[in-house]
Amino acid sequence: MQLYKDQALKVYNSLSGKKEVLKPINEGHIGMYVCGPTVYSNVHLGNCRTFMSFDMIFRYLKHLGYKVRYVRNITDAGHLENDAEDGEDKIAKKARLEQLEPMEVVHRYTVDFHDILNKFNFLHPSIEPTATGHIIEQIEIIKDILDKGYAYEKNGSVYFDVKKFNEAYEYGKLSGRKLEDMIANTRELAAQDEKKNPQDFALWKKAEPQHIMRWPSPWGDGFPGWHLECTAMSTKYLGERFDIHGGGMDLKFPHHECEIAQAEASNGHAPVNYWLHANMLTLNGKKMAKSTGNNILPLEIFSGENKILSKAFAPAVVRFFMMQAHYTSILDLSNDALLASEKGYNKLMEAMDALPHLETHAVSSFDVAAWKQQCYTAMNDDFNTPTLIANLFEAVKHINLIKEGKETLTAEDKNLLQRTLHDFVFDVLGLEGKNGAESGTDKLSEVITLLIELRNEARANKDFATSDKIRDQLAGMGIQLKDGKEGTTFSLS
Ligand code: AMP
Ligand code: ZN
Repeated sequence: MQLYKDQALKVYNSLSGKKEVLKPINEGHIGMYVCGPTVYSNVHLGNCRTFMSFDMIFRYLKHLGYKVRYVRNITDAGHLENDAEDGEDKIAKKARLEQLEPMEVVHRYTVDFHDILNKFNFLHPSIEPTATGHIIEQIEIIKDILDKGYAYEKNGSVYFDVKKFNEAYEYGKLSGRKLEDMIANTRELAAQDEKKNPQDFALWKKAEPQHIMRWPSPWGDGFPGWHLECTAMSTKYLGERFDIHGGGMDLKFPHHECEIAQAEASNGHAPVNYWLHANMLTLNGKKMAKSTGNNILPLEIFSGENKILSKAFAPAVVRFFMMQAHYTSILDLSNDALLASEKGYNKLMEAMDALPHLETHAVSSFDVAAWKQQCYTAMNDDFNTPTLIANLFEAVKHINLIKEGKETLTAEDKNLLQRTLHDFVFDVLGLEGKNGAESGTDKLSEVITLLIELRNEARANKDFATSDKIRDQLAGMGIQLKDGKEGTTFSLS
C-alpha cells in the first residue's frame, strides 16, 4: 500500500535547520545511510538509542509503503582513539590489550551488537557493509580527490585540504561553523605535524611498522581515515546523491561535515538531501559514553544487575521508554523513568489483549477513523513518537470505557482499531507483545474473533452446517463459544 501518497511526512533536516516535506529522489524509493558502530567493545544503551531511533524511522518509512534501502555500516578499522586524527586505532588497541587478532575483536563485538539489536526487536538493515571490505573503493575516492586538487600526500599519508576546499565550497555548513573561526581558535601547528592546517583531516594514514591493520596503497602501506569509510560505503550502495543520512548528534562534527566535504570534492555536488541527527541518552545528566565509564549495558538492564536499578526490565519496556521521547530530544535514563514506562507499557498491552473480547454495538461513540489519522499526523511531524504514544493511550482510555459498558464500538470500528493499534505498536514502534514477539494469545484471539464473525455470517445465511462445524471444531481444540444477548464470547480451556 502506497500510504505515502496520502501522508505528507516532514523531517527535521539538520542541514537547513528546518522541518521539510520528505521528497525522495526516486518516487516510492528511499536510500538511507546510518553510521554504524565501531566494534571494539559492547554496545551501551546510548548507542542503542541512536540505532533504535533509526530503526523506528526505517519502520515508519516502510509502513508508508516506501521501498527503503537502508545501509548501516560496521566500522572495523580506521577509527582512532578519542575520535582524533592521531593515536591508536580503537580496535587495534583492544586487540593489543586482550592479545587477540583485530578481526577477533571485530567479530566478538559485531556478534554482541547483533544479539542486542535482536533482543530489542530491530529490523535488519538492507546492507551492512564493513569498512575493511571497502578499502579499494576508499583508495579510488582518495585518488579522485587528489586529482581534483583537494588533497595532498605527505610521508605516505594523504590529507584533505580543508582551506582549498573552502575556496570552492563551504566547509562547516552542516555544523554551522565557519572555517575562519576554526582557524582563529586553534593553536599553531606542531612543527612535526604533516598537515598544512590543523583543520585538515586524514583520508589515508601511513601505517607505522607496529600497526597491524594495514593495506597496500599507491602511497605505501596504511589504513583509511574514518570519515572516508562512510563516504565510500554510502556512495557505493546508494549513489552519489541519496535521500537520508543519519547518525548520532555527536557525529555531526567533524565526521559528517567531513563526509560532505569528501563527497563534494569528489563529485562536485552535495551527497545527501536530508541529514537526520538523533539525540543522546544521558545517565546522571551526562552523555552515556564508553570512554568515561558513564554508561549502562543493555544486558545489565535485562538482568537488573546494576546498582542504579531496583529490578530487571524487559527489552520491550526499554524500547517503550526510548519511544516516549522524541528522537531529537535528550533523554535521561533512571530507575524511576523505567518503572513508569513499564507501567505504561503494561497498560497498553492489557488494553490490546482486551480489545478482541469487547462486545460490539450498532453505533460507535469513539471516532476511530479520526483517531487513526491523528496517529499518522503525529508520525508525519518528524516521527513524533511521544505524541503517537499519547494517542495510543487515548485509545486505551476508550477501550477501558467500552469494557465497562460506558462507551460503544461497532464491529467495523473494532476491526479498524485493532488493525491500527497493531500497525503502530508492533510494526512502527517495534514493541513486542508481553509474551515475546507479538504475543501468541493476542494473535489467537484475533483468529477466533475472525472465526466468530464467519460463523455469524453462516448463521445469517442459514448455513447451519458451516456454523456448527466452526463451533464444534473449536470445541474440539478446547475453545468454547458462548452465545449471549450481546454477541458471542469465547473461553479457552
Ligand atoms: P560509536 O560506536 O562510538 O561509533 O557510536 C555508535 C553510535 O552511537 C553513533 O551514532 C553515536 O552517535 C551513538 N552514540 C554514542 N553515544 C551515545 C549516547 N550517549 N546516546 C545516543 N547515541 C550515542
Ligand atoms: Zn559515518
